[in-house]
Amino acid sequence: MKPGMTSQQWLDVAVVGAGPAGLYAAEALLNQKDVAVRIHLIERLPVPFGLLRYGVAPDHQNIRAVRQNLAPLLVQPDLKFYGNIALGRDISVAELRASVDAVIYAYGAAGDRRLDIPGEALKGCAAATDFVAWYCGNPDACLGNFESALKVTKSVVVIGVGNVAIDVSRILAKSRAGLSHTEMPEHVLEALGNSAVTDIHVIGRRGPAQASFTTKELRELGELADADVFVDANDLQLDPVSAAAVAGNRALARNIDVLREWSQRKPTGKLKRIHLHFFLRPVALSGAESVTAIRFERTRIDDTGNCRGTGEHHQIEAQLVLRSIGFRGKHIEGLPFDVELNRIPNLEGRVLRDGRVACGEYVSGWIRRGPIGVLGTNKLDASESVAALLADAPALLAAKDGARTELDDLVRSRALRRCELPNWHAIDAAEKLLGQSRGRDRTIIHRLESLLEAGGA
Ligand SMILES: Cc1cc2nc3c(=O)[nH]c(=O)nc-3n(C[C@H](O)[C@H](O)[C@H](O)COP(=O)(O)OP(=O)(O)OC[C@H]3O[C@@H](n4cnc5c(N)ncnc54)[C@H](O)[C@@H]3O)c2cc1C
Repeated sequence: MKPGMTSQQWLDVAVVGAGPAGLYAAEALLNQKDVAVRIHLIERLPVPFGLLRYGVAPDHQNIRAVRQNLAPLLVQPDLKFYGNIALGRDISVAELRASVDAVIYAYGAAGDRRLDIPGEALKGCAAATDFVAWYCGNPDACLGNFESALKVTKSVVVIGVGNVAIDVSRILAKSRAGLSHTEMPEHVLEALGNSAVTDIHVIGRRGPAQASFTTKELRELGELADADVFVDANDLQLDPVSAAAVAGNRALARNIDVLREWSQRKPTGKLKRIHLHFFLRPVALSGAESVTAIRFERTRIDDTGNCRGTGEHHQIEAQLVLRSIGFRGKHIEGLPFDVELNRIPNLEGRVLRDGRVACGEYVSGWIRRGPIGVLGTNKLDASESVAALLADAPALLAAKDGARTELDDLVRSRALRRCELPNWHAIDAAEKLLGQSRGRDRTIIHRLESLLEAGGA
């Protein structure tokens, strides 16, 4: 912003969520020169980066390094970071709307979908997202549960055949040495390194031609130092609908090639085994207090491409069952939400309230599109949402209310333990120091209280 500008000449924009979508939206706003903007970046956790820190697999350091490209945004003079402030908990949508000219909602959709089958409430059945949150050191993750489960779990069932299921299986299959270079909290490394797990079963309800994993991620499972990988050749015989799908899609064809090569492999006696199963629909979990097994019905793909039960059942013993069958967005009071599509209803990034474009409200990332797409997809749709906001800028500037409560005053009046830029820098430095003491770049601080303490908040 140019010196001497009055508040009537700039737009105050709140961006809710400091994950990739929020940061890419902030970047697009800061990179344009047409409208003067002041960005207020509001984040529920004390730290930025969303799933780039708490989702992307810790052993995929090259992808996690995208944070280094986004970090310089946080120190821009026209951006203020408010960590540990949640919309809907600490400030309401109405309060936020009244204190800025425009809001970009980019708060993600990292909730999980349930199986809705008997036994799901048993101990030992959890969302893969909770497991991911735990191994990434997210302060939301329950501490203790997975540590004790891994001590006694020999067999794990991972339900789902997307990249998250692959990540979870790979992390479970790696030894401590294979993970020791990562940012994982020390107690997570220890629990994974000392786990009793020998067998990891990855389950697809439909066939390999319907699985959503990508070849690069799939291939990694076959290259692990400590795990053999198994797939039954019978599961790879393609019905006509699947064969047609594979013939017309090179990525699918590559997946099938990888799986076929694995189906010919002989066990080499590695410590752990990953078994990929297809055509199994979960029916019920059994056990007294904790899961001991999960029952499936075999399925097949019919002539119309639908998945049908065959009436034949199959059981797998397991002490830990992780469901990875998709994500769910969250409804925040005061915002519209489309439960079916799992997102805030919008027209090319402009929020729709009762089917009509809402003035000054935009949406980006998973909560805009529904929980699908990779990091780059968020950059594209953030720039589209920002373009919509900039097109509306003259009207937003004209509607400015000079007498409103500033967002900064509103946040301060709540006496919250907020984490602003210096607090995040202190956390960042503390994590780097902790990592260096163990020969790593960083060790993530897991507990919320410890994060806040490290940040001096
Ligand atoms: C386990 C996993 C692994 C993945 N691995 C990869 C990968 O390897 N490569 C890849 O390209 N993509 C990967 N993805 C996808 C990628 O992470 C997403 O595309 C991306 O994170 C979506 O960005 P987002 O900003 O919409 O959501 P998020 O990353 O979830 O960010 C949303 C942010 O909003 C904050 N927030 C939530 N509620 C509130 C609130 N009420 N108030 C304020 N702030 C709030 C959250 O704390 C979070 O920081 C992975 C996803 C998952 C789940």
